[in-house]
Amino acid sequence: MNLKGFEFRFIVGSQDLYGDETLRKVSEHAKIMADEFNADPTIPCTVVLEPTAITPQTIRRLFEEANAAENCAGIITWMHTFSPSKMWINGLNVNRKPLLHLHTQYNRDIPWSSIDMDFMNLNQSAHGDREHGHIHARMRLPRKVVAGFWKDGELRRKIGVWMRAAAARHEGHSSVVVRIGDNMREVAVTEGDKVEAQVKLGWQVNTWGVGDLAERYAQIKEHDAEHLVAEYSHHYDLPPSCQNPGPSRNTVIEQAKIELTLRGLLESEKAGAFTTTFQDLHGLPQLPGLACQNLMQHGYGFGAEGDWKQAMLVHSAKVMAHGLPGGVSFMEDYTYHFEPGKEASLGSHMLEICPSIASTRPKIEIHPLGIGGKADPARLIFDARPGPALLVTLIDLGDRFRMIINEIETIKIENEMPKLPVARALWKPAPSLSSAGEMWILAGGTHHSVYTDALTSDYFIDWAEMNGIECILIDNDANPVKLKDELRWNEAYWSGRR
Ligand code: MN
Repeated sequence: MNLKGFEFRFIVGSQDLYGDETLRKVSEHAKIMADEFNADPTIPCTVVLEPTAITPQTIRRLFEEANAAENCAGIITWMHTFSPSKMWINGLNVNRKPLLHLHTQYNRDIPWSSIDMDFMNLNQSAHGDREHGHIHARMRLPRKVVAGFWKDGELRRKIGVWMRAAAARHEGHSSVVVRIGDNMREVAVTEGDKVEAQVKLGWQVNTWGVGDLAERYAQIKEHDAEHLVAEYSHHYDLPPSCQNPGPSRNTVIEQAKIELTLRGLLESEKAGAFTTTFQDLHGLPQLPGLACQNLMQHGYGFGAEGDWKQAMLVHSAKVMAHGLPGGVSFMEDYTYHFEPGKEASLGSHMLEICPSIASTRPKIEIHPLGIGGKADPARLIFDARPGPALLVTLIDLGDRFRMIINEIETIKIENEMPKLPVARALWKPAPSLSSAGEMWILAGGTHHSVYTDALTSDYFIDWAEMNGIECILIDNDANPVKLKDELRWNEAYWSGRR
């Protein structure tokens, strides 16, 4: 993954009314801005400056070229001067890339003593960007508007957030989700419309029989598995029982073989995410545990029980979070602590939590699993890092997808849990455990989600906007009464919309 490989076309608008000198200054300023953006690590992707847009023909051509460019993940527009917006309609009409309207101006300060009408005509984005924004609003275009001085850190952070969301969207349009087996029997919330997922999100969600996997598993060489176990021991604590030949080490070797099997299939299909189902493991010795955990650590999305929506959302979040401090994992709400003043939710899964969220060095352990009827699986055990984090889920409401975000505060686990051999996270959801529970359930949220302490809500809000997905935010300002109304209004807005 190289975020600099995603490019964003920077289209600066003007018109031919002002003469060559003004246009020369416009393109000079735009060049300085693009160069500074490209040198700033807050801006994770590449900004490609286009020639100043001054005619309807050029504008349309710039959008068509951006559409056709394989690495173009989005377009940033800014009107240095006035640029009549009817010139932009045909270009905007063909645009298929996410759009960010940057509302800024080149100079920070008004030059009080020297300001004249030439200066006013050159530096009139306060005026030109209003005309530009009007046509976006008139055309009902999904877009992000970022306003402020272009050197400001917060403005650049917002551009970076949007770029990362757009990079994840772009990646989604070439991503395959490998489903090993189907969804868990009788479960509603992990189901979904795979055709609509591809229409909306570009995700190619397809299935592979577990028999294909078993066949690959049988071909994995002992030597390669041993090599992977040696790699595990660099990052994870391997208990003494697994360090020498014997049944325990064999269990870890089996997980390494499962990982190599999955990795081989994912690489051959150029997949970004995968799912497993404990009900369908014919030919595999164990439920993939450590294997899924280590694959997530390497950027793959994962969903348990066939949950392909969260699997691909985990992968999308990993693209957005690439290079940022913090981690991204598949997660499940498990059990509550209702002690007054210490209310919290304990999240985990049977096995499959990504070690990128670990606060301590993960330990490999082998324990029985109550369900699935397979051998005791090896897994990584750790506590999640304390600090602000998010739970995000994607559900299918039948006529549309809805994303639900809950802002949470992960807390240190003070108590030993010697009989709970799984990776876990303990958190306090905003605005409170009970209100968050009420709102998540009113919105129809699943028990499965993406957990991240690398990203804030605005990444997912931008991602939802550019994908045309409904987005519900449960933060400290949310409350169940208002949310119920919001859900009703959204029902009216999204009904029949594509
Ligand atoms: Mn589950």
